Amino acid sequence: MKFGTKAIHAGVHPDPTTGAIMTPIYQTSTYVQASPGNHKGYEYSRTHNPTRTALQEALAALENGKHGLCFATGMAAIDTLIKTLKPGDEVISTNDLYGGSYRIFTKIFQQYGLKFHFVPMSDITTIEGYINENTRLIWIETPTNPLLNIIDIKGAAAIAKKHNILLAVDNTFATPYLQTPLDLGADIVMHSLTKYMGGHSDTVMGALIVNDDDLAQRLAFIQNASGATPGPQDCFLLLRGLKTLHIRMQRHCENGRAVAQFLREHPKVEKVFWPGFDNHPNHEIAKSQMRDFGGMISFVLKGDKMEDAIKVLEKFKYFSLAESLGGVESLCGHPASMTHASIPREERLKGGLSDSLIRLSVGIEDYEDLLADLEQAIG
Ligand SMILES: *Cc1c(COP(=O)(O)O)cnc(C)c1O
Repeated sequence: MKFGTKAIHAGVHPDPTTGAIMTPIYQTSTYVQASPGNHKGYEYSRTHNPTRTALQEALAALENGKHGLCFATGMAAIDTLIKTLKPGDEVISTNDLYGGSYRIFTKIFQQYGLKFHFVPMSDITTIEGYINENTRLIWIETPTNPLLNIIDIKGAAAIAKKHNILLAVDNTFATPYLQTPLDLGADIVMHSLTKYMGGHSDTVMGALIVNDDDLAQRLAFIQNASGATPGPQDCFLLLRGLKTLHIRMQRHCENGRAVAQFLREHPKVEKVFWPGFDNHPNHEIAKSQMRDFGGMISFVLKGDKMEDAIKVLEKFKYFSLAESLGGVESLCGHPASMTHASIPREERLKGGLSDSLIRLSVGIEDYEDLLADLEQAIG
């Protein structure tokens, strides 16, 4: 089955009682048993719910994985994965990562005796220098947030395999439409489904997708034991969003390309971060592991003044100033004061995240209107 067909059909079966073509919202906490232990596979909705099952199967199919697990948020998915580790275990993470991931690693899990290394990974061999006998997990995000760095997934997978370490990829920015990390050798794919996968800025949810049966079982145990599972209404909305993922992503990519080229030629723009440019430092890797370059773009203004960036953000008409990304409508953000405010300034600047950096999530509107909006805002 090809991608678009999977997005519409995977995991979804007509409802056995009525033939309803759409998976019903099974708004129930519990399920009647004929006699103790004699049930139809469902006992309690923290553990299993049919609407969630359909979504989990659809996600596994889209990522070419065997098992999908859904969580109340993307952070709950990360929380569950890290809970498979024990005190003394070490994680090697990319240094340019989602602020919430940095926060849960350093502010929560570090105090339980886990150790995190934040490492630049444009050159993947850097990872080797941080591996020791306690290393259990390599955590990468690609493209990274918000600098759109590209990390070589195949290269990271080869290092992970050699040292018997697991590789997890946060695939939120790319989605399986653009890249399927399990096919490239990763062990775990993580999603904030809140973003492109849901696609309509109406639901917060997360997921993990894996191939290994044993790992899937350990994750399902924590999913149920810790209990950060999503409700059936939200699972329904996600299933509905997934049906147009391929069409939306195609348009996000087209619009992203138009916006990136417009910004590159703009006299008031210093630098544009977009993996589709052939002078992007890891353009060749992007081309080899991604099917297109997506709708996420960051840019820095000439002079790099925070107040100039804020003026531009206030003038936008169609790019709404808001946290989050990946919805049908265009959004803009200022990482230094919003998503990445929890990262100390010196560390932020060291990673190349400057004060006037503006991040765009280019939506699926008509690109002519988006370019006109950029022109009037940047001036
Ligand atoms: C939003 C996001 C998360 C966290 O997901 P939530 O659904 O907000 O909990 C993790 N990683 C990336 C790259 C994100 O953009």
